Amino acid sequence: MRERALQDLFAAMEKINGPAYECRYYPCHFESQDCSLCFCPFYPCFLYVLGGSFVPFKNSLIWSCKNCHWVHKRENVEEILIYLSTYPRQRLVEEDWFFYSKIIQDLIFGEELGVWIGDCYNLIPANQQYYKNDEALLIELSNFEIANVLEIHATDIEKLCGILVPKKL
Ligand code: SF4
Repeated sequence: MRERALQDLFAAMEKINGPAYECRYYPCHFESQDCSLCFCPFYPCFLYVLGGSFVPFKNSLIWSCKNCHWVHKRENVEEILIYLSTYPRQRLVEEDWFFYSKIIQDLIFGEELGVWIGDCYNLIPANQQYYKNDEALLIELSNFEIANVLEIHATDIEKLCGILVPKKL
């Protein structure tokens, strides 16, 4: 998935293709959607406000982008490409999830709202309106892939290791 996301990104940097009418899944989000970033460079972003959500998959959870229109709107594709084009391509290939998370937060909120508390990257501030009763998910990532998700009560955050988001299932 990550390789395909980078391929889509670099191809879009050459030319924004617009709707992929020839694709058998078109329109998988909405009519006239832009398909240049079909595989999103920010996946999995864990920002509920964009329409993404966790869905059950093989006894665990995956991040679903079914309801996200943001990355498929032409004006957002252009803004994303302008931002990412300020970095050398080699860096875009080598950088980790946290680098891309900071960028998408900049694009959406105008600043990074996620904060490091010890070994825990607390993304609850970027999803505050979804946070109730300390109910949270602690995510372990391995190269942009979800390796494990734990349902927890986010009390001693400084003792946690992973990415913390509100539980919204
Ligand atoms: S919810 Fe949207 S922005 Fe987030 S990873 Fe999915 S497609 Fe990308």
